[in-house]
Amino acid sequence: MTISLPFNPDALTQLPRTSGVYIFKGAGTLPLYIGKSVDIRSRVMAHLRAEDEVEMMSQTLQLECIETAGEIGALLLESHLIKTLNPIFNVRLRRLRSLCTLQIEKQEGGWKPSIVSGKDLGLGKVEGLYGLFGSVHSAQNKLRELADQHRLCLGLLGLEKISKRGCFGLQVKTCLGACVGQEERQAHDQRMLSALTDMKVHAWPFDGAIELVEQSGEWIQRHRIQDWRYLSTTCSKSSALKVSVQQSFDLDTYKILVKPIMMGNARIEVLESTD
Ligand SMILES: [Zn+2]
Repeated sequence: MTISLPFNPDALTQLPRTSGVYIFKGAGTLPLYIGKSVDIRSRVMAHLRAEDEVEMMSQTLQLECIETAGEIGALLLESHLIKTLNPIFNVRLRRLRSLCTLQIEKQEGGWKPSIVSGKDLGLGKVEGLYGLFGSVHSAQNKLRELADQHRLCLGLLGLEKISKRGCFGLQVKTCLGACVGQEERQAHDQRMLSALTDMKVHAWPFDGAIELVEQSGEWIQRHRIQDWRYLSTTCSKSSALKVSVQQSFDLDTYKILVKPIMMGNARIEVLESTD
């Protein structure tokens, strides 16, 4: 639904109290702001009251809202619309063009992390990837932080050279000595792997596409997802919401979906694989 300015109290009370996305529009072609909420009406009211949003609200001529059957649908749609419509007042969602990740591979002697970057990381498709970073530098910082917390060897993590006397960390007693055989390599690697567990980038756990189903009363929405990419939403009510196919791995979409899908608390229907 769309309501026009000046917002009169009657129009505002017609706003739905359900999940969805709302768009503030001004005179220009770009929208001013896109947001999502599980209660559109109270969220829009909050914008109207916010003192630091006076400028945006003064430029707003129209408000459009798109209801969704649940919160995941609202999050997916908001992220998609912000990226395609570039609203003026949204703090730009950083598009991480050069994502890096840590790849842990078994080599002679033990497990070794390496920082990999570039387009073709196999994100969301292969196992053994940990963490998503905007730069090699921030990936290195994370490794240093983990080394510090878990007394890992900077040399074995690939962050510095190991001399005959071991790594620098051994001299200042932050490394437990896996680089010179004082600590068993296996114990070191176990500690490293468990430190990384929470950062695991999950490979897509299905053969092909799935539909994540959200329901609100009689109303059902199906979000089609494959390899963590958001493909489309179809709707049992009104016209179907069409979303263009995401071509590549998108960090925001992954973050929205990873918990509901991996924890098994979303309603999922696996589609027959077409290939
Ligand atoms: Zn060491």
